[in-house]
Amino acid sequence: MIRRTYKNCSNSLRNSVLAGKPACYSMVTMVLFAGLALGAPGLTAQSASQPANQTVSQPTTQAAPPTSEAVATYRQFLNPAFNVADVHHVRELSIDREDLHIVLTDGTISLIQPVNGHITGAFFEGEGHILLIPPDRAERGSLALFTGSRVLDQNFTVAYLRFFDDKLVEELRAGFRPAENAQEFIDKWKDSNSRLARGDGLQLLQAITGSQDAASTFLHLRLAGVTLGIFDVVFDTHAPEQISVAQTATSMDGVFYNSWNSFPMRSVRNAPEKRVLRPEFDVSDYRLRNKLSPPTDLAAEAEVTLVPRISGQRTIIFELSRYLKLAEVHVTGQPADFIQNDAMDGSDLARRGNDLIAVVLTTATQKGVPLRLAFRYSGPVMADAGGDLIVVGDRGTWYPNLGPWFAHYELTFEYPAGWTLVATGKQVSSSTVDGQQVTRFVTEKPISYAGFNLGKFEAAGASAGNVAIHVYGAQTVEPMLARKEAAAGLHPNPAAQAQRIADDTAATVNFISHELDPFTYSHLEVSQLPALISQSWPGLIYLSSMAYLDPKERRALGVQDPFLELLLRRLMLTHETAHQWWGDAVNAGSYHDEWIIEGLANYTALMMLEQEDPKAMKVALEHYRSELLRETQNGILADAGPVTLGHRLVSSKFPRAFEPVLYGRGTWLFHTIRTMLRQAGDDKSDALFFAALKGLLSKSGNRKISALDLQRAFEQVLPPALNYEGKRSLDWFFDSWVNGTSVPQFTLEKVKVTPGKSGVKVTGIIREQHAAKDLVTAVPVFSVQSDGTSRFLAFVFVDEDATEFTLSAPAGTKDLVLDPQGTLLRR
Ligand SMILES: [Zn+2]
Repeated sequence: MIRRTYKNCSNSLRNSVLAGKPACYSMVTMVLFAGLALGAPGLTAQSASQPANQTVSQPTTQAAPPTSEAVATYRQFLNPAFNVADVHHVRELSIDREDLHIVLTDGTISLIQPVNGHITGAFFEGEGHILLIPPDRAERGSLALFTGSRVLDQNFTVAYLRFFDDKLVEELRAGFRPAENAQEFIDKWKDSNSRLARGDGLQLLQAITGSQDAASTFLHLRLAGVTLGIFDVVFDTHAPEQISVAQTATSMDGVFYNSWNSFPMRSVRNAPEKRVLRPEFDVSDYRLRNKLSPPTDLAAEAEVTLVPRISGQRTIIFELSRYLKLAEVHVTGQPADFIQNDAMDGSDLARRGNDLIAVVLTTATQKGVPLRLAFRYSGPVMADAGGDLIVVGDRGTWYPNLGPWFAHYELTFEYPAGWTLVATGKQVSSSTVDGQQVTRFVTEKPISYAGFNLGKFEAAGASAGNVAIHVYGAQTVEPMLARKEAAAGLHPNPAAQAQRIADDTAATVNFISHELDPFTYSHLEVSQLPALISQSWPGLIYLSSMAYLDPKERRALGVQDPFLELLLRRLMLTHETAHQWWGDAVNAGSYHDEWIIEGLANYTALMMLEQEDPKAMKVALEHYRSELLRETQNGILADAGPVTLGHRLVSSKFPRAFEPVLYGRGTWLFHTIRTMLRQAGDDKSDALFFAALKGLLSKSGNRKISALDLQRAFEQVLPPALNYEGKRSLDWFFDSWVNGTSVPQFTLEKVKVTPGKSGVKVTGIIREQHAAKDLVTAVPVFSVQSDGTSRFLAFVFVDEDATEFTLSAPAGTKDLVLDPQGTLLRR
């Protein structure tokens, strides 16, 4: 549930503070995808995954006992068996699914035994071929990064197939010929097949208990490519992006699940209205009753109302922390079957510390007919940082949810006296019974996630207009930090910093409320988190202990870098506060849009910084630029991909590119847009920039925003000076800067100043290097007067290696200079 973590903290902070101990979420959990043994039977299977920053052993989660037909079916999916009568020879057998083209050229195939009348898998050895042409530049670039080619065109020798697709079975059967050595084939592959089966169980269960829609198919292939090694191809009509290709890969930094491709299938691209709705339910309200036993345990009863958006579903899949053990589920008062299993290793879900829970209904859903689900679960979902400091939210989602979806929450917490609890929502009651405190919170409007924090805190307060701000700090930092401080003769007291933080928070709320929209809650709670990260929830911020220290105390922990100090002293709190708008008022439509939320939160922090210390803002921008240009063995970090790849930026090729690209490049993109609008506007102010952002915030509907919404919002305010090729459009910027990876270099050549009657004519050439072929940049050109001052002349759209230009300039112009204010991300 780490939606909005300030991930910038990780690399430099980790290196300076805790050498060798990854502690930030963005550090990829090193996990293996199930069953790497394909092509080498008898080798490794599944490797248990555990986030690198978690030292407490995690509970094992297992499927519930087979109490029903559905659970028994699930068990059969996990234990597929071959049948010697169903081993065949195949030749020239094509499997075509939208963009995906597979040919089993010549080889042996074995079907697995049917489950509930459906054959759900096969194993192939021989010669095969896959062809997949990614649909756009970002996907072709991503594929090229991992395979060296912009098209997936590969022969394979072994294929594991798992599917829910009866048509596929017919297609396969049509090509069957008698096979020899059936038993030998089975003996060779049965173990690999069983190992691989685990990962697909819940999807198959969902498919087989679903509406049986003829158009609904699921196909997972694991292929042993001739030159690319083992990789996965998934075609899933229920997924938001139906086609995906990925590979487990190892680097010096651990094991990664590299996402080569993930995109909507052709028919959905051609008809966006067919796009898959996720989740398939509207979530109307949550009621969570939690008993907290610090430092680690939570026991809860959760109720939620779901309104199906489609009919015919029988399996509902939730996420829940892998530390919480589900004891029972009721659906509308009746006990229901459920399965709790490990998230697919290597997946984003597993990295977030979550598992999947499948609740199986006795009858299929009916569109619009609400279901009331009740769950009971418990476990050590909080992490003990020592010294009565608790890391809440470090171990995945603490209540069952379907992903970010706006809902009302009623939260009740029971916890020992002496502790302070803060949570999303407005506190409506608090009492003490037998030494236990009971506090209830109700949300003031629908929110996408609920959170809480617990500690032995002291509070300070401030106000921003009608908004009450409370800041909570403990009297100590986590022992890991306290020991280093003590060695330097220091004893930090976060509680003593709470007032300063409250005043800073109020300033940020005032700034954003003034420039954009008013804060939407009556209060904002900021509480200490004993971790190197900070996080923002609706009306609630977890602020890293590091931000509660003073500069001297941070130096004692090894914080030397000026940017890092700036981040911890100023930017982190402002960034998280800005998430109360960017992330809560509106949120990312999908992972492709995460950069908008992070970029805007971060750029808001930079703009506030600029007001009081313009040089400090430059320090931050320079930091991001130098990070993006940092050389690695696979290229500079900017080469990892465009901001729109989101979490897919984390890979074995670029283990540390996520922050520089998503935060760094994202911040630069907003800096460029803002300064372009300033320069091109009439009054050289930020009025246009803020007008566009206000437009974005006011977007009605589901409060989700995409890059297209962002583009349209800026186009609404676009001054004519930024029209490229005569069009009032920012296609040029979004196509090449947002969806691209270039960090170009521009140099001015052959400048000629020719005096005229009223001014001078200037000509020259702007040469461009390190740029993608179709990069278009509005380069601001300034005149330089004899006294050395410079003045903005015009934007020159640079779109080729050498762009000639002619401009008129004021009398007295001696020379020209490009982008003297550093508004472009360039070398
Ligand atoms: Zn953030």
